[in-house]
Amino acid sequence: MDLGLEGRAALVTGASKGLGLASAIALAQDGARVAIVARTASTLADAHAAVTAASTGRTDVLAIAADVTAHGEAERVVTEAVEAFGGVDILVPNAGGPPPGGAWEVTDDALRAAFEANCLASIRLARAALPSMQARRWGRICCITSAWVKQPSPYLSLSNVARTGLWAWVKTAAADVAADGVTVNLVCPGLHDTDRIRALGGSGGARMGDPADFGKVVAFLCSEPAAFVSGAALQVDGGATLGLL
Ligand code: NAP
Repeated sequence: MDLGLEGRAALVTGASKGLGLASAIALAQDGARVAIVARTASTLADAHAAVTAASTGRTDVLAIAADVTAHGEAERVVTEAVEAFGGVDILVPNAGGPPPGGAWEVTDDALRAAFEANCLASIRLARAALPSMQARRWGRICCITSAWVKQPSPYLSLSNVARTGLWAWVKTAAADVAADGVTVNLVCPGLHDTDRIRALGGSGGARMGDPADFGKVVAFLCSEPAAFVSGAALQVDGGATLGLL
């Protein structure tokens, strides 16, 4: 299937490892021009090489070192991508997940930090990128969140709270920009084999998804034929989530 991504300008944050990197690679494989963002320069350089190698002969992969939760950085990375590519067509907001903790254990400071990383940063990135998409009357915003938005985890209450806030925002944001040709969706991973899951102690023997496959789902949601998919929260979890929504 032709995803219609050739030459599209994509910005993927949290993209030096794991699901963000896999999404950047999948977009590059389908011909998009890709800017990647993460905090650590060394892994960002490795990711830059990996995305360049995956791309269809492009040499214009852009790597931007930034913490998307820091003041003004969401806006800066969008500006850099717009300047480099002449605009942004595709935005994949992503950042690291919060630490584990039950609902009665988490502090106000931890809740604020999770809200910054897993809700507000995505909204700021989307807000900054929207004018470029509206000018082209074409845009795709695909936020990486978690399957826990549909079935809250008893051990990841910070994630539950921050990401459901983002989902609520996406539902209304999508309707507001539908007429501009801009879609806004969530993609909700279940267990995938990444550093994040290893740091949380592994899968406990459960089947895990391949990040490369996850990246291709993101590329589809950002594609031309996904033009009528908006306001959706698509779980990619091998059927693990039991919620009906
Ligand atoms: P990961 O392996 O820990 O990778 C996170 C990526 O984001 C890295 O490139 C990291 O690089 C970057 N990053 C973290 N914080 C950042 C920030 N503030 N600003 C910019 N870049 C930042 O995580 P993952 O497993 O790919 O997961 C991605 C997201 O999906 C996370 O929010 C995670 O909680 C969620 N999720 C994952 C799974 C899974 O099974 N893997 C399941 C459900 C939900 P630097 O540290 O260098 O910045």
